[in-house]
Amino acid sequence: MSSLFPALTAPAGGADRVALRFGERSLTYGQLRGAAGALALRIGGAGRVALWATPTLETAVGTVAALLAGVPVVPLNPRTGERELAHIVADSAADVVLAGPGDELPDALGTLERVDVTTTGSAGELPPEAAADAPALIVYTSGTTGPPKGAVLPRRAVATTLDALRDAWRWSGDDVLVHALPLFHVHGLILGVLGPLRRGGEVRHLGRFTPQGVGRELTSGGTMLFGVPTMYHRLAEALDGDAELTKALAGARLLVSGSAALPLPDHERIAAATGRRVVERYGMTETLMNTSVRVDGEARAGTVGVPLPGVSLRLVEEDGTEITAWDGETIGEIQVRGDNLFTEYLNRPDATAAAFDGDWFRTGDMAVREPDGYVRIVGRKATDLIKSGGYKIGAGEIENVLLDHPAVREAAVTGEPDADLGERVVAWIVAADPQVPPSPEELAGHVAAQLAPHKRPRTVRFLDALPRNDMGKVMKRALHG
Ligand code: ATP
Ligand code: MG
Repeated sequence: MSSLFPALTAPAGGADRVALRFGERSLTYGQLRGAAGALALRIGGAGRVALWATPTLETAVGTVAALLAGVPVVPLNPRTGERELAHIVADSAADVVLAGPGDELPDALGTLERVDVTTTGSAGELPPEAAADAPALIVYTSGTTGPPKGAVLPRRAVATTLDALRDAWRWSGDDVLVHALPLFHVHGLILGVLGPLRRGGEVRHLGRFTPQGVGRELTSGGTMLFGVPTMYHRLAEALDGDAELTKALAGARLLVSGSAALPLPDHERIAAATGRRVVERYGMTETLMNTSVRVDGEARAGTVGVPLPGVSLRLVEEDGTEITAWDGETIGEIQVRGDNLFTEYLNRPDATAAAFDGDWFRTGDMAVREPDGYVRIVGRKATDLIKSGGYKIGAGEIENVLLDHPAVREAAVTGEPDADLGERVVAWIVAADPQVPPSPEELAGHVAAQLAPHKRPRTVRFLDALPRNDMGKVMKRALHG
């Protein structure tokens, strides 16, 4: 395989082109090659390196160094509790931890040799490139549906997915990515940091997300924005009466959302205010990116576009038969195959075996295909598919309708056992004004008026906030617990 980062040795924009910018601090391609190359030489003997993944220049340099050294890197979420951290450290068998010089590390990392990342340095020769099937990263899943599992990602998967996105998004070295995501998952680290570096472009990380910060960067050279739905929701709200922010979003080359479904009301509000449609892509830790709306295609609200080049995708029934009708209605589980896939869950041969049907990976996500091939995700098999009165109901479409009600701020829909129906549709609601919550009858009527009557919630429960993880994903398993 060719180099993961050709721009480090032969930057199209010259060695002085900015590669990484985190607030006031930045590194050119020449400086990044020196700093990451020098660090790569220091950690080359390690078995696996854990990475204290704060949203900093050090995290980006540390990742590039590990990839140059050919040592698998295990990004850690600094907000993870001691117990889970201890589990990940033991499970991943990391022997070194990379951290920023000022970082205070928890006791759970005490057994690891600490190496501080410095962002200066120089390197002569870079180490020889590792093989395409060598593990590049071990990334723990978000833990939305159960305890996180370590997905072993080969170098080939990283290169394949980033190059597929280059095609779909016409992503080039001229692009400047505005970034405000955490760096311990695929979205923020692989797409958000390694993506621009593979293209020879620039990463501009805000440290912390604010709508105004995003607007500022998009008006001063930023071309693309990657965000999760909670960010687009905040942008949609902030657009109201903010002409500068509206202009900034309108002028961006590409606005991309992923990690969870973008609620329809947010998609429509942004489109109405800016004339821009947010492009949705669908991926997961185990498969990196599977589908996306293409820049030359239609960004149809509620869809995640078409399979990326090199990704085979099929929908299957519960009994394993493939659904060949693309009628926009028949729901099946998404299975994918391609060079974008992980190789295994670390230390979990049982879970790995259960996740594959031959070389097809069972994503656990349920979807329909529209006649032109667009994929429309209806939710996760484990938490979002409700079997009620003989119907299969996707939670997502009901959530979108509920969110459209003016008295609703947040909504999550689940199924609960029901003597008559098998399962009953339950709506968990955060009211826009907790003093005047909408009545359950009002909400059921609102849903029944827009969707089939069997989709209306039979039970409505009010909460102060929905339980979410660090990526802003709703933790449905915490709702009943
Ligand atoms: P865990 O596997 O530990 O329960 P997780 O599945 O949330 O957590 P990730 O690998 O970070 O961990 O997330 C992948 C999942 O995110 C996908 O399987 C899918 O359910 C969801 N997802 C990602 N992008 C989209 C999207 N554009 N629309 C809808 N769902 C999405
Ligand atoms: Mg998952």
